Amino acid sequence: MAAGSSVEWLKSVKAVILDMCGVLYDSGEGGGQAIPGSGEAVRRLMDSGLTVRFCTNETQNTRERFVQKLRVMGFDISVSHVFSPAPALIHILRERGLRPHLLVHDALFTMFYSVVVLYCLCVCVCVCQVVMIGDDLLNDVGGAQRCGMKGLQVRTGKYRPSDEQHPSVRADAYVDDLAAAVNAILTDH
Ligand SMILES: [Mg+2]
Repeated sequence: MAAGSSVEWLKSVKAVILDMCGVLYDSGEGGGQAIPGSGEAVRRLMDSGLTVRFCTNETQNTRERFVQKLRVMGFDISVSHVFSPAPALIHILRERGLRPHLLVHDALFTMFYSVVVLYCLCVCVCVCQVVMIGDDLLNDVGGAQRCGMKGLQVRTGKYRPSDEQHPSVRADAYVDDLAAAVNAILTDH
């Protein structure tokens, strides 16, 4: 945890959204490998009673294949707890009877991703009691904060030390990795 940062808000957290690449695992040859301690951290979160959901901007695989890859890495995750943009968008389009012609630039995709995250959470908690854990300062942390959530950045994956001096986006907390994040959240719960 960053020196001097207030973590009082962690006591009121009721739901946790986990970014996946860079938080649970590092991408690489053969699909990547788990970040040490992250499998146990996920198990502790799932057993804690908090609502836990997983978000990814994965667009190359179906959720089933993506989850299968994670299971091989040792993560006990169910498909229904994983949210990726395409199924969420399809659900929204069907629900609203929309027939869009959608061309999405990378920059807009970040905004779209934030909408999807909120849409998929589907839990009865105040958005202010939700924490997004991510490795990407602008997209994960900044996106969550723009939605009213707390944003916690892990020092794994895309994280760079300069993130902690970013001129416009500051995480609500910085922790070394997912295991440290879960320790911080579950303390006092
Ligand atoms: Mg990431």
